[in-house]
Amino acid sequence: MEGNYLQLVELISESSGNSVEDIKRRVEAKQAKLSGLISKEGAAQVVAAELGVNFDKQMIKISQIVPGMKKINLIGKIIDLFPVREFNKNGRSGRVASFVLADDTSNIRVVLWDENHIDLIVKGQIIKSGIVEINNATIKNGELHLGSFSEIKNSNHVIKSVVLEKATVNKKILDFNTNDNVSARAFIVSIFEPRFFEVCPNCKKKVNELSECAEHGKVVPEKRVLLNFIIDDGSDSIRAVMFSEQVGKLIGKTEIESPELFAVKKQELLGEELIISGQVRKNRMFNNNEFIVDDIKEVEVDKLIEELEK
Ligand SMILES: [Zn+2]
Repeated sequence: MEGNYLQLVELISESSGNSVEDIKRRVEAKQAKLSGLISKEGAAQVVAAELGVNFDKQMIKISQIVPGMKKINLIGKIIDLFPVREFNKNGRSGRVASFVLADDTSNIRVVLWDENHIDLIVKGQIIKSGIVEINNATIKNGELHLGSFSEIKNSNHVIKSVVLEKATVNKKILDFNTNDNVSARAFIVSIFEPRFFEVCPNCKKKVNELSECAEHGKVVPEKRVLLNFIIDDGSDSIRAVMFSEQVGKLIGKTEIESPELFAVKKQELLGEELIISGQVRKNRMFNNNEFIVDDIKEVEVDKLIEELEK
């Protein structure tokens, strides 16, 4: 969400009538005055307030949401609706509902805490594929949260196209929720032995010991590998699961197949810091979350700096 700075500047420019260049200059001046104690997004919000731009009454696009924004108003389409969950945490109990809201710029997970809002879902008044208007929501850990001061209602608004591709947000492991598509910067603290299995080349399903696929009969199976490891980012740790393609990015084919070479490589990888993206899934057997990895990247300092400067 750090990349949204420019979108925010454009929004302030549109609403205030000042040029984009002028807004950028004001933001930089504000940041300089505060000796860099404030992020660009934060400074932009101060500038917006000074120019009388009030986001409270304005509809914004999902891609324009930046950390720290309050009283967010938007319209979107519910592209995924999750079952209402009951929770009992630190003596507080209640229900929580969530869905993924999309517009033509992006999509975001929305979390509902208010009983009245949750009832709208339970009673089928707010449904998957429905268009809703949300008012007075808050951004928290890359998710939109609706409390008792927020509003949600069905809208007649027409949304021509929505962004369905999963938007990945950067999160601390401590803040991971089931079904999140997230990216975390974390250290590998433990690696388990690789597990090998064979799949049918046609349908990619597991074959039996006789190399037979339930659907395609006797086949020449493809070898696959699964690697479990633990990552830790200082906030918490989680077990991550990586399949063949991703394993290949980290460990060579000969290294994974030879126990001796694997042991050496393992020592090299322990303590390595990576940017890991994937989906948080509930492991039904252990009733805890695990992280299914779909991409890994090395932490490149140059890129991080570039990202911060955006
Ligand atoms: Zn098959």
